[in-house]
Formats: sequence, structure tokens, C-alpha cells
Amino acid sequence: MKQKNGLLLIFCILSLCGWSQNTKPEIDKKVSELLSKMSVEEKIGQMTQITVTNFEAKGKPGEFDPTKLSEAIQKYHIGSVLNVPNPGAPTIQKWNDVITTIANEANKSRLKIPVLYGIDAVHGSSYTAGATLFPQQIGMAATFNTAIVKKGAEVTAYETRASSIPWVFSPDLDLPRNPAWSRLWESFGEDVYLSAQMGEAMVKGFEGNDVGSKYNVASCMKHYIGYGSTTTGKDRTPSIIPERVLRQFDLTIYQAAIKAGAKSVMISSGEINGTPIHASKYLITDVLKNELSFQGVVVTDWKDIIYLYTRHKVAENNREAVKLSVLAGIDMSMVPEDYTFYDDLLDLVNKGEVPMSRIDDAVTRILRMKFELSLFQTTVANLNDYPKFGSQEFIDVAYNAAAESITLLKNNNTVLPLNKNEKILLTGPTANSMKYLNGGWSYNWQGENSDTYAADKMTILEALQSKIGKENVLFTPGADLTKFDDAEIAKAVQMAKGVSKIILCLGEKNYTETPGDISNLFIAASQSKLALALSKLNIPIVLVLNEGRPRLISDFEENMSAVVQCYLPGNEGARALADILYGDVNPSGRLPYNYPRYPNSLEKYNRKYTESLGDEEQNNDATYEKSYSPQFEFGTGLSYTTFAYSNLKIDKTEISNSEDLQVSVDVKNTGKVAGKVSVLLYLSDKVASITPEVKALKRFDKINLASGESKTVIFTLNQKDLQFVNNDLKWISEKGMFKIQIDSLSKEFMFR
Ligand code: BGC
Repeated sequence: MKQKNGLLLIFCILSLCGWSQNTKPEIDKKVSELLSKMSVEEKIGQMTQITVTNFEAKGKPGEFDPTKLSEAIQKYHIGSVLNVPNPGAPTIQKWNDVITTIANEANKSRLKIPVLYGIDAVHGSSYTAGATLFPQQIGMAATFNTAIVKKGAEVTAYETRASSIPWVFSPDLDLPRNPAWSRLWESFGEDVYLSAQMGEAMVKGFEGNDVGSKYNVASCMKHYIGYGSTTTGKDRTPSIIPERVLRQFDLTIYQAAIKAGAKSVMISSGEINGTPIHASKYLITDVLKNELSFQGVVVTDWKDIIYLYTRHKVAENNREAVKLSVLAGIDMSMVPEDYTFYDDLLDLVNKGEVPMSRIDDAVTRILRMKFELSLFQTTVANLNDYPKFGSQEFIDVAYNAAAESITLLKNNNTVLPLNKNEKILLTGPTANSMKYLNGGWSYNWQGENSDTYAADKMTILEALQSKIGKENVLFTPGADLTKFDDAEIAKAVQMAKGVSKIILCLGEKNYTETPGDISNLFIAASQSKLALALSKLNIPIVLVLNEGRPRLISDFEENMSAVVQCYLPGNEGARALADILYGDVNPSGRLPYNYPRYPNSLEKYNRKYTESLGDEEQNNDATYEKSYSPQFEFGTGLSYTTFAYSNLKIDKTEISNSEDLQVSVDVKNTGKVAGKVSVLLYLSDKVASITPEVKALKRFDKINLASGESKTVIFTLNQKDLQFVNNDLKWISEKGMFKIQIDSLSKEFMFR
């Protein structure tokens, strides 16, 4: 009886967690059985991904033309469909219909192989009406809290599966080197350790313990590799990255996500040192698939095989481009609007120019992912399984993420928190808009429609009105995002005369990819003009930055009493911001990049020593413009309380290859209110054969302290943390002295 109950329990648990509990050998067996039944056409079809708008009825956005869908699945055997929302973000009911239509067509095919639908759910299930929208990744990084990032990905997975979609093109693991890059906000910022930790948390949140469960999705790391490093900062322009650097920084982030189980990867549309990644057998097959043992699916980015001949000019025609990229190791082509990939690859295989072994490798990976995702059991969600879709519980998770991301960069004379009884002027072009809070990849590609889809969410104006009463908030936009409007400035200046504080909301339009390219990193002159005009009034100004990348504010920053960075905080962002401005929430975000002061001084926090020489190291017969003087440094994040660090201890003064080093530090909340703080541990290698970084983040831990409370934070380091990549492209650690730094405390130890 007992045993029977036990079995029943196991059965119930299995059916609760998902549709399948296939083991790896079982899946491998099913994949090879299926593969053996497939024709070459069916195999090549699996490698073909077409955008959903291709199957649309003429003049009827969002409706299928059955003939086109049937042609795609029955004639071309396509393996995957890529989302492009048209006419907008569907409800989960509508998604159900869409995926059911595709599934029904797939069920009519000879082998009934399910079609894999992929979507850019990059800050929540951002293409589904009513889903929970989180801060964009840059804000998630600023939480310095991996638990929040994991939880956010779990909610996204749940709501994406509720939309009957099993595959998300996320996380973004790019390491932006130029702050002008239009996709900086899609990344976790400039630090490799932070990005690796956050990427790992996100993959685990998406995929859970069983990616085939009805609450998990397959992740897609992107954009492998070096995509965020363009020299000019313009999207999809060339990068120059020495392989030593690529391995030490960029590759490390992917390695962590692969270890966390990432099921797929999207290739970068860029080129490194003259080689487009889509044409690099070295980077895709030798490094990713062989060296890192990546077993998942390698998908191209949008149209990138075609671009090999039309843009990069490394192939003469499509056929040559297809050959180059498939031999480089591409498994699936986001073609995405025609069947040229299919036609040319079929011809290449038939003529023996691409070996069947390469095709079988690609199709094995794709089928494996489909089995792992339980798509052979069902591709369509039962909506009754998703009672928490868009629920208050999920909204609270997004709110908490926003509240922990918002970063207080400056607070002169403790101007913040504000007094709820004081009248304020709220002004600035980003003060009353949902689309600027959400940014791109929200309801559609550029995020144009947030104000319609998120009409029930609060803009900054609405959140402040609800916090302190409409009568206490005077509002006028004051400026356009980019166009000069002197009359508006005059109006704002006039209105400011009746208030004791100004909240000035500046920032950027919503954008992603190439439409977000800029040639000037300074914040638009229309906005700095407003800031300068208001500064003349001698009324304290709280500057709220609502931007995807650090637009320079050095022309007027010294006139601002407080600066709050809210990044792109998503649908709950304005509520979190209002709570922070009025002290109902204590800020705890930290800046995940160096905020530059000048456009020609873009040093990173982990700069080399020669990038930040001290005054005493310069000759004394000249004056120097200091090279290292960011507006705000990586890791900056103030609080309404104070934290005292003491008692930094290391358990050894020397370690060997096999020994751990335990580091502990006491942190006390010495202020009057409770607060969270992420404790950061930096390491400096004092002397090394490759010039060492001034410091590098090695650990962080976010803790919550009541007023007066102390906690001891313990970190463990080992020899791996001391390593760097040398000129032979090997990870090595060199003997010598190292310094640990936590806040202003430091300790040295010897590696022998
Ligand atoms: C972007 C990717 C995105 C893909 C599919 C591309 O243009 O670079 O990040 O996942 O489109 O929408």
C-alpha cells in the first residue's frame, strides 16, 4: 500500500511538473530513430527558420494564409518559426490559436515533427498582451542580486509557455565596450563576472530543472560573440578584439551560461578582426562546439547568411554564403523571409559540397531540443494551467526588481528622500510615457506601443500624483527628446518658481538595434538646455535618468542636487521610482558600467594602470587633463542609510594552487533606516606578465540590514580567481602578491 502511494506520488509530481521526464539516453534514442527516417529535404527543412509574417494573408495582418503555411511545412518542411509581431502583441488566447494553427499543419506532415516557435521575450514575455514586464537587462544587472534575476526569468518562462511558446531569444550575454552601442541596455553591463553570474541565473530561471516542463522554456544565449564591441558604437559594425581578450572576457560569460545548461545560442551579426562570426568555423565549431562542448542549437541572427554576401562581402552569392556558414557550424538559419537557404543547401548537399554528417549534426541538435522541450507531446498550452499569468504575485516580482535596480548616484545635502507635503515641479520629456520606461522589445520591435498596451500602468507623472496627490505635482514636459522648444522651457521655468523642488526626467527614446545608433554620446541638447535653464533658479533639482545607455550629462551635472538612474525599469518602474524618491523604499541598485564624463574618455572601471595615473606619477612641469575621471564609477550606488565595513579578514596570507582563501567582512547598518546593500569584492593582481587590471570584481552578495544590524559576509576565492589568459591563449595564475578590496578596506595575500 505504502509503495503504491509512493508511486502515485511520483506520478503526480511528474505530471505536475511537466509533460515529459525523458532521460538523456531515451531522447538520444528517439532522435536517432527519427533522424534515420528523414529525407534530406526534411532534414534541411528542420534547419530553416522563417518569420511568421511570411505566412500572413495579404492585407490581413495577424491572419494566416493557409496556402502559405502549408507550403512552408509540407513543401519546405520548416523546423522553426520566428516571431515578428504583426499587428501587435497577441493575448494568450490569440497565441493559442496561432500556435494551434501551426501545430495542426505540422501534424499533417509525414513525420509530424513539431515546429519550434522562437520569440524575443527579453524582459518578461514582452510580446504577449497582459504579461509581466521587467526592467531591461541592464537594470536587472544593477540589482546586483542573482536571486531576483532568476525569479524574473522564471516568471518570463511561465508566461511565455502560457503563450504556447517554448523558446526565448534571451539572455543577452554581450559585453559592450563602447557606451554608445544601441544595445547596451540589453546586456548586463561592462563587467565579465557580473554578466556571467547574471547570465547563469537567467538561464537557470528560464530552463529550471526540466526544460520540458510546462513552466520552462529553452534559453538562447546571444549574440555569440563580441557583438557589443563595435569600435564605433554603431550596431553591426566591425569589432577588433584580440583573441586573448575575447577568451578572458567575452567567452567566459558564455562558458558560465553553457555550464548552466543553455540550450541554444544565436550568432552575432558582427565581424571580429575582419571575419563575420557567421563565417567563422574557428569560433563556432572549434571553440564553441568542440572546446566548450556546447551541445545545443546554433541559430543565425536575422538574415545573417544573406548578409554574408550582401553586406560583409565574404561570399559572392547566397549559395556560397550558405556553404560558408553551414560548414562553419550553423545549425539553423533565421533566413527569414524566403526559401533561398533551403534551396541552396539542398543543392550543396546533393552535390556533395556539404557533407551529410554536418547536416545530421545540425538536425540532431534541433530534434534533441524539440524532444527536451516536450514538443512531441504538445505544443499548445492548456490555459487552465496558467492561473498566475499577469497576476499580482508576478507584478510584485517585477516591482521588486525595479526597486532594487534603481540607482542613486548622487544625493547632495540629502535632498532625497523628498517630503510628501511639498509641492514639486515634474518636468522633462520622459516624465509621462510608458514607452520610455520600457524601451525596445516591448509589445513590438522598437517598443512603440507601450502606452497603449500598458495603459493601465503608471508613468512617472501618474506614480507621483498617486503618491503625493495631484495638487502637489505641477507638470509640463519642458522639452522634447530632441527638438528645441524654447517656449516649453520658459513654461517650465515659470512653473518652477512656485515649488521647492524640481524632478527633472531626462533620457532617450525607445529603440533597439540600428535605429538606436547615435553619433553623439551627449544627452540631446534640447534636454540639456532645459536642465541649464532650470539650474539658474537655485531650486534643488533631482535628475531622473531614464535611458538605455549613459548619455553624457557633464554639461550640467554639477547643478543637479541628486541624480537617480532608473535605466529602462519596465511597467512597474515608475511606482518603484516614486517609492524611492519619497523614501518608502531605500535604493540599493549599483551602476553596472562606468558612466563617462567625456566622449573621448571611455575607460572601464577595470582599466589598466596606465589609464589612470595619479597626479604624483605625472611630470611636474606640466598640467594634465586626468584621463580617468568617470562621471560615476561602476558600482556606484548610494542609500538612505549608511553602511560601515570593518574587520576584513583573510584566513591565510599565502595560498597554493589547491587551497581556498576565505575572506570575511563585517557590514553594519549605521543609519536610521533599513537598507539592502550588495557587498562587492574586488581583486588586484599586483604584478603580472600581462599588464594587470587595476581591479576586477570577483564576488558580490546582496544583504538586507535593519538599522543598527550587522552581518558577517563570507566569500571564498581560489586559484581560478587569480587567473588570466596569457599570450599563448592559456588560462594561467602567476605567483606573487594580490590585493583584496571591499569598500575602502583591503588585505594582501601571496599566491605561491
Ligand atoms: C536581433 C536579435 C533578435 C532577432 C530576432 C535580430 O535582429 O539582433 O537579438 O533575437 O532579431 O528577432
